[in-house]
Amino acid sequence: MEKRKIIMLTTGGTIACVESENGLTPGMGADRLTQYLHLNPDLVTLHTLEVMAKDSTNLVPMDWIRLAQIVAMAVQKGYEGIVISHGTDTMSYTTAALSYMLENIPVPVIFTGAQLPIDAPDSDAPQNLQDAIEACLVAGPGVYLMFAGTLMDGSSVKKVHTTDKEAFESINCEAVGYMCDSLLELTDFGRKLFAERQCYASTPMEYKPKEYEVNQEVALIKLFPGMNPDIFNYYLQRGVSGVVVEAYGTGGVPSEDTTYMDYFRRFESLGVPVYITTQCLKGGTHMEVYEVNRLAKGAGVIEGGKNTTENLLVKLLLSQKQ
Ligand code: ASP
Repeated sequence: MEKRKIIMLTTGGTIACVESENGLTPGMGADRLTQYLHLNPDLVTLHTLEVMAKDSTNLVPMDWIRLAQIVAMAVQKGYEGIVISHGTDTMSYTTAALSYMLENIPVPVIFTGAQLPIDAPDSDAPQNLQDAIEACLVAGPGVYLMFAGTLMDGSSVKKVHTTDKEAFESINCEAVGYMCDSLLELTDFGRKLFAERQCYASTPMEYKPKEYEVNQEVALIKLFPGMNPDIFNYYLQRGVSGVVVEAYGTGGVPSEDTTYMDYFRRFESLGVPVYITTQCLKGGTHMEVYEVNRLAKGAGVIEGGKNTTENLLVKLLLSQKQ
């Protein structure tokens, strides 16, 4: 295994939280986090940078853009692996956003966090952090999440448990690898993914990702039985630049009340994309199956397929700078 120069970017989250009179709040710097690591100096040179200290609940799309710029600068400076410590609550949005903005990234960017602060008894933080750094020694280019010993592709993860140490799952996508005796063992999918992405690794110092800006007005609407479809009118009037609808099952939208379809056609005529995804955790949409799916498709919506809600949303929230 070759020695790699790795940088750890800290952003806050439970992993770095301290007790305050108002509850847990990010208060530990990179120095406190690195105290818990046991790294082999023949394999890793580790530098750190404190980017922000936020509960991830407070992150906004501008933070994703800033983080992506810092990652790109780190690549240009010659870092061969990047670990990002992050709050778990919105980490799936950040990993989706960076996967989107940093396509063709030539090095591994591995997010991690924890369910308990790093100095709490039984905390999962030291192991998650250690695993993320060790995975950087083996992983190929791309944005990933390391949690509870599993490496997942950053564009398909979701937080599925509020308190369990196995807090994340890879959605509609196999895991990339698993930690085994401090080594990342790749799955067949992981091997294939790294092989496909290896072509990006050739000229890291020249890496220059596209630039993005934030679209302020985007809507996420979850259907429920008895919902008043006029909520769509509110978003039409606000002039949103895109809508994600969490529909039922394979992508069903009520059709007996035709108001839904009328609004979908109005969005389509304005050139505003309406993506249909599912309220189910896994399986994605299959909009050819039922009449209630096909009618929605006929009204101009776009099928979300295997994408997570996070994935669809970040692509609406970020647009490439002209
Ligand atoms: N509220 C915390 C955060 O997202 C939760 C965590 O990190 O586990 O920053």
